[in-house]
Amino acid sequence: MLDLDETKNRPHYTELPRALLVGHDVLDEVPGVMKKLNISGEAVLVCDEMTKKLAGNKVAQVAGDHGLRCHMIEIVEAGGDEAQRVMDLAKDKSANVVIGVGGGRPIDVAKYSAYEIETPFISIPTAASHDGIVSGRASLHIKGQKKSIAARAPLGVIADTHIISKSPHRLLASGCADVISNVSAIMDWELAHRLKNEYFSHYAATISLTTAKMMMENAHYIRPMLEASARFVVKALISSGISMAIAGSSRPASGSEHAFSHCLDQLAEKPALHGEQCGVGTILATYLHGGDWENVREALSAVGAPIDARGLGLKNEEIIRALTTAHTIRPERYTILGDGIDTEAAWEVAKITGVVDSE
Ligand SMILES: [Zn+2]
Repeated sequence: MLDLDETKNRPHYTELPRALLVGHDVLDEVPGVMKKLNISGEAVLVCDEMTKKLAGNKVAQVAGDHGLRCHMIEIVEAGGDEAQRVMDLAKDKSANVVIGVGGGRPIDVAKYSAYEIETPFISIPTAASHDGIVSGRASLHIKGQKKSIAARAPLGVIADTHIISKSPHRLLASGCADVISNVSAIMDWELAHRLKNEYFSHYAATISLTTAKMMMENAHYIRPMLEASARFVVKALISSGISMAIAGSSRPASGSEHAFSHCLDQLAEKPALHGEQCGVGTILATYLHGGDWENVREALSAVGAPIDARGLGLKNEEIIRALTTAHTIRPERYTILGDGIDTEAAWEVAKITGVVDSE
């Protein structure tokens, strides 16, 4: 329905990626994309030991042949110290761009560093395990704690589906689960809009939800080592990223299920992957909303993502602690968890949905 409330006519800023290139063996096109984006001179390329071999060396070589000199920096973890090293190198070389080549960590470090030193960021994902390959937020370890912080959204995304299809299927399934989690994120956003008068973008919500529905409807076609599956997931992650860009926040793709995952990152002995935890969180949150949680669970199972504590490699107690404390993670972001779910209710929800064992 058209919103005629005049008080909502305030300016709303949206920053979208300018170049998206998804396809087979597209790394050769890196110089062409850089040229279109008017980027030349010096670049800092962030990778890790593995992604250097997978794509980093190749990107540095093809870019170098066309006049964009890449200063490569290998990182070990996604932490503040690593980001500082990247920023120091970028300043030292007067870099015009920071390129992140990787699944998670190099992308997080690159986009955070680019944000801090106000340079463009280019994302070259080697796996499709979460929508961070397109979003303006980074997940970094700061003082021993994993935190989701503001970062630079990519000016360009270059995704080689050939490379991505060769990554472990667990990563791709985790990316699918991150997309499916939009289901509960949107329900949470609608709830916050109704109860707290929070800004709500119908356009952003529609893109986010349609993307999640397409993923669930096509879940059975997501297969290991199949390039068409990798392409489908990358496009879905990009759509999710664009919905966040339109909303100007991560709201369309991050609700109570993400708070649950962030809690697990902090309290679990051995956390699972971000998307995997968000997927299980979506089962729980969708149940709490009175939504079709069984459909969510079926889709997660079809793509090969975990659907319970055992699948995540987590203890039942860790699931319950995360569920009962998730509302404290980002209190200003109102969700179905409200001011918290009590322990008995949490066990009940987790048992009914099969997330924890019922005995
Ligand atoms: Zn996510």
